[in-house]
Amino acid sequence: MLFRALILRTSGLRWVRRAVTRSRLFRPMVSRFIAGETVAEAVSVAEGLAAQGFGVSLDLLGENVATLEEANRGLEHYLALVEAIGASPHVASINISIKLTALGLDQGDEVAEANYRKLLTAAARHDLFVRADMEASEYTERTIAMVERVFPDHPNTGTVLQSYLLRTDQDLDRLLELGCRVRLVKGAYLEPESVAYQDKSKVDSQYIDQSKRLVCEANYPAIATHDAAIITTVRGFAETKSLEKGRFEWQMLYGIRRDLQAELHHAGYPVRVYVPFGQEWYPYFTRRLAERPANLLFIAKSLFKG
Ligand SMILES: Cc1cc2nc3c(=O)[nH]c(=O)nc-3n(C[C@H](O)[C@H](O)[C@H](O)COP(=O)(O)OP(=O)(O)OC[C@H]3O[C@@H](n4cnc5c(N)ncnc54)[C@H](O)[C@@H]3O)c2cc1C
Repeated sequence: MLFRALILRTSGLRWVRRAVTRSRLFRPMVSRFIAGETVAEAVSVAEGLAAQGFGVSLDLLGENVATLEEANRGLEHYLALVEAIGASPHVASINISIKLTALGLDQGDEVAEANYRKLLTAAARHDLFVRADMEASEYTERTIAMVERVFPDHPNTGTVLQSYLLRTDQDLDRLLELGCRVRLVKGAYLEPESVAYQDKSKVDSQYIDQSKRLVCEANYPAIATHDAAIITTVRGFAETKSLEKGRFEWQMLYGIRRDLQAELHHAGYPVRVYVPFGQEWYPYFTRRLAERPANLLFIAKSLFKG
C-alpha cells in the first residue's frame, strides 16, 4: 500500500510526467500494457484476441478533459471507435470501456450525460455494449446515479464497482436492483481511509464476498482481477453452486497474467481482455506500475542492460 501511494503521488508531479513520457526507457513497459496509439492498431489487436476466442473491451485512453470542446472531441473519438468496431468481422466479441470524465463529467452532469446517451445510441446500432469505468471516489455517486438514469433507455450499458470503497455493498444493492451489468474490481486510485479500506486483506475479503453475490444474483457480471487466489476461490464457489460457466465472465488487463487468461479460457469460461490504446497513456500506465513493485524492477533492469 505504501509503495502504491508513493508511485501514485509521485506520478502526479509535472516533471515526473514529462520525464516518463519523453524517456525511451519506459517504452518496452508501455507497449506491454498498451496496444498502440491508433484505432487501427487497437482493432487489429482486438481481432487477434477475438480470433483466439477471447472477448475484448477496448479502452481509448484519455480522462478528465478540461473544456466543453474537448468533451465533444472525446465523444467524436469514441464514435469513430464504435464505427471501426462495427465494421469488424469480430464485432460480436468486442465492446468498449469509457471514462465519463472524457465525455465532460468535470464540465457538468448534463454535458457528460448528453454525450453518453449519444454514444450509447450509436453503439446500439451495432449491438455494442459500453461500460462506464469507475474513476476516483469523487465521481462514484455521480457515475452510479447517471447509469441509473440512462440504463432504462439504454440497456447496452453498465458500470464498475470497486471493492476497496466503504460504500460498495450499498452500491451493489443499487445496481443489482437496476439490473445493469457490473464489473467488480479492487480499485486503482489513491483513496483516503475516510472512503476506502487501506488493508489489502480487507479489500480481498470484500472482493470475494461481493463476487459471490454477483455470480449468483447479477446480470452477466464481470469478475475482473489477476489475483490467482481469489480466482480459485470464486471459481470453486461457482462450481460448488453448479453455476453455468457462461453466467459471468472473467476480465483481465492486456499484458497481465496471460497464463491465467489462457487457463480460464481453456477451462471453458468466457474471458474478456481489457485493451487500452491511445496517446494519453500516462495515467493508466502509472496505475499499473503502482500495482506491482516488480514492474519498476523490470525498468531498472533494462536501464542496467543498456
Ligand atoms: C478488466 C479490468 C478493468 C478494470 N477497470 C477498473 C476501473 O474501472 N476502475 C478502477 O479503479 N480499477 C479498474 N481496474 C483495476 C483494478 O482496480 C486493480 O487495480 C487491478 O486489477 C489490480 O488488482 P488485482 O485484482 O489484479 O489484484 P492485486 O492484488 O493488485 O494483484 C494480484 C496479482 O495480479 C498480478 N498483477 C496485478 N496488477 C499487475 C500489474 N500492474 N502488473 C503485473 N502484474 C499485476 C500480480 O501477479 C499480483 O500479485 C480494472 C482491472 C481489470 C482487470
